[in-house]
Amino acid sequence: MPHDHPHHDAPPDPMTERVRQLEERLVAQGLVDPAAVDAIIETYAEKVGPRTGAAVVARAWTDPEFADWLARDATAAIGSMGYAGRQGEHMQAVFNTPTLHNLIVCTLCSCYPWPVLGLPPVWYKSPAYRSRAVIEPRAVLAEFGLELPPQVQIRVWDSTAELRYLVIPMRPEGTEEMTVDELAALITRDSMVGTGLPVAPERVSG
Ligand code: FE
Repeated sequence: MPHDHPHHDAPPDPMTERVRQLEERLVAQGLVDPAAVDAIIETYAEKVGPRTGAAVVARAWTDPEFADWLARDATAAIGSMGYAGRQGEHMQAVFNTPTLHNLIVCTLCSCYPWPVLGLPPVWYKSPAYRSRAVIEPRAVLAEFGLELPPQVQIRVWDSTAELRYLVIPMRPEGTEEMTVDELAALITRDSMVGTGLPVAPERVSG
């Protein structure tokens, strides 16, 4: 599959390099604990960053016109909610169905839809995930605890510098009475990458 990666073999961009040097200096001076920096990054990757994507998905679940727009032009639909910017200039939403499960990877590096999901998790950037997600997606999903019935087809989308994907998981059953905010709380980062599903509603209220 075509995969244009102009940045793949390039050195880190100047901002990444500056941040790395800054962190090195702060750690050397004893001003920050590297474990604390990792914890902040992890919080951003798992909690803060993906909340924008969760808002997009929850709206798609409750607003059919928005869902249509998201399917036709995800960049514009997401941008209309105020979520746009670097690493998300060209977005495509891929919708799960009862017979189709979508999974996102970047086989060559770590292209990821920053405006809706925040920072990529460490495993997303790992060589093992990047190669195995394509070769044996069903086995990879099982390792994430997601066992899909054999009749569900898995479609793997290879992100590029030009095009980033957002998985729109299926709305869980038993959520008919929930508000948009309550629905958003069910939508995990992994469910928007395709390595997980939304949380079942009883596990949130209980
Ligand atoms: Fe990439």
